[in-house]
Amino acid sequence: MRRVLVTGGSGFIGSSLCRHLVLNNGYDVCNIDKLTYAGIRESLRSIENNPKYQFFKVDICKGEDVNEIIRNFKPDIIMHLAAESHVDRSIDNSSNFINTNIFGTYTLLECARSYWETLNYLEKDNFRFHHVSTDEVYGSLGKNNLFTEETPYSPRSPYSSSKASSDHLVRAWFHTYGLPIVISNCSNNYGPYQFPEKLIPLMILNALEGKSLPIYGKGDNIRDWLYIEDHVQALITVAEKGVNGQTYNIGGRNEFTNLDIVKLLCKNLDIIKPKRNSYVDQIIFVDDRPGHDLRYAIDPSKIEKELGWKATENFDSGILKTISWYLENEWWWKPLIKRN
Ligand code: NAD
Repeated sequence: MRRVLVTGGSGFIGSSLCRHLVLNNGYDVCNIDKLTYAGIRESLRSIENNPKYQFFKVDICKGEDVNEIIRNFKPDIIMHLAAESHVDRSIDNSSNFINTNIFGTYTLLECARSYWETLNYLEKDNFRFHHVSTDEVYGSLGKNNLFTEETPYSPRSPYSSSKASSDHLVRAWFHTYGLPIVISNCSNNYGPYQFPEKLIPLMILNALEGKSLPIYGKGDNIRDWLYIEDHVQALITVAEKGVNGQTYNIGGRNEFTNLDIVKLLCKNLDIIKPKRNSYVDQIIFVDDRPGHDLRYAIDPSKIEKELGWKATENFDSGILKTISWYLENEWWWKPLIKRN
């Protein structure tokens, strides 16, 4: 299995995945991405001229374009990451979420199926469609339990329900047509190259620019954080070793409230880039997000036991690496602030 078609490869997770597949894992990669506001070609600078990498600006909702690329590239694996991914945007306007996340996934599944049906017995057996999804499909947790692969779906936002729909479609293509699929549901990612609308980069950049650090409600919503490099290793593990038809939950066993996260960022910035007042003084509390899920937390035992993957990044060092990256890479994020 050496040829991977990645959708959404110019986004935060997709670009890290493409870099790893090409530079560290010896794969030939074809990235198809519509380049929405979240698709950033500069994130792939380190591989853009690499003969093992190719890029096509394509909307996954356009089946004819996708079919042609698949026919020419002949992938062994399709890793599907293209999506509208920001919950706040889905609340303001959900139409792109329904279109890309549901209709786009359906279109891609049909393209994958018609290609897979042309393959010979051995190639069919080697083929894999990996859908990259979120823990938000499981809904909101109370104080104690964890999401497992058996947790019933209960999505609450337009974003999470569109991802839940796409998970169901992917499973249906396995059960109905026999398309070899795997699904992974992951917790919140953080790290370099994350678009500055998401909590951690937004707070780092607002802090540096002397802006307020707005926190929803009382800041007591809990998320389980995973460093991007750990997620990418998990994705490659699932794509290579996952069992067809199975779902794998991916998480870092790193639960923090939003307020804890922002305070930790401020504490680090006070040391790395000190100023007269602590960055904590920039924190403000704003009206809560409608339908804001209280807690997400993943039980990653299945992927740990069955596929041998385990998160390795320590949260304190991961946060420090992330802050340092944003401090050193203004060339990447500065133009995005205007585009946002
Ligand atoms: P992102 O928003 O950074 O990137 C999404 C990419 O998809 C962008 O490059 C965008 O241009 C592309 N895209 C959007 N619509 C498209 C379309 N119609 N056709 C082709 N390309 C299109 O997202 P991300 O954070 O990298 O997330 C990637 C995937 O992982 C998503 O499916 C998301 O649901 C899932 N996920 C993300 C997280 C997280 O914490 N970021 C956690 C769990 C799961």
